[in-house]
Amino acid sequence: MELEIINMYPDILNLYGDIGNLIAIKQRCRWRNIKVNIHNFTVDNEISIENGDIILIGGGADSGQNIVSKNLQKQRNKLSQHIESEKPILAICGSYQMFGDKYIDANKNEIPCLELFDMETINENNRLIGNILINTSLNIAEKRIIGFENHGGRTYHKYKPFGEVVLGNGNNGKDKTEGMIYKNFIGSYLHGPLLPKNPTFTDYIIFNALNVKYGIESLENINIGLNDSIEENAQIAIGKKLFKKKF
Ligand code: GLN
Repeated sequence: MELEIINMYPDILNLYGDIGNLIAIKQRCRWRNIKVNIHNFTVDNEISIENGDIILIGGGADSGQNIVSKNLQKQRNKLSQHIESEKPILAICGSYQMFGDKYIDANKNEIPCLELFDMETINENNRLIGNILINTSLNIAEKRIIGFENHGGRTYHKYKPFGEVVLGNGNNGKDKTEGMIYKNFIGSYLHGPLLPKNPTFTDYIIFNALNVKYGIESLENINIGLNDSIEENAQIAIGKKLFKKKF
C-alpha cells in the first residue's frame, strides 16, 4: 500500500515544528511497510493536489497567512472535493482559521479565507499561550490529547469540536471547545507538534486515508502492531509535569 501526502506551505506555515506531523505519519507508515510519497506544495510550486490521500497544513503568524491567502483560494474547489470524499486533512492553527468564513487579524484587517466552513475567527490583543490538554470527541482508544497553543485568534463555530478543553484555552478560551471536525477534516490549535505527541490520533489519520483508498477495516494486521510504550511514557511524563493533578 502507498499513500500520497500533500504537505502544504512547509516554507511559510510551519510554526513550532508542525513539520513533525508529516514526520510522524511517515515513520508510522514506514514501520508498517506502507510506502509514503511526499509532495510539497507552496506559493511558487503549485503542484497538483487532487491525487493526495492526506493533506497537511501547519500554522503561521498573521504575516504568513497573508502571504498564502490568495494562493490558497485557488485550491478551494480541490480542497472541498478532498474533504467531501472523506480524505483526511489536518490543518493547524493559522491554516485551520483559514478554512472558515473570515479571519480578522491583530491589525483588524480581514484576511480572505476559503469560506468552506461556517466559522469565524477574530483576533484579540491578549494571546492564548501554553500547554493544552483536551479530551477528544473522536472515537479512538486514547481520548487524551496534549499539545501547545499560541494564538490571538478566537474561533467560533457549531461543528463538532476536535475535543473538550480540560486545561488550556482551545478555540476561544470561553466555550471549552477545541478545534473542529467535519468528515475527516480536522482543524486544531494544537502545535506541539501534535502528531508525535499523540500516536493514537496519528494512526486514526493513517487508517482513514487507507480506508478511503483501499477499503481496509483496521490497521492492526498491517505488517506489525506497533509498540507505543515509548510514546505513551513520554506523554505521561510530559503530562504529569505540565498538568499535574488533572493528567
Ligand atoms: N496568526 C494566528 C493567531 O495568532 C495563528 C497563529 C498560529 O498559527 N499559531 O491567531
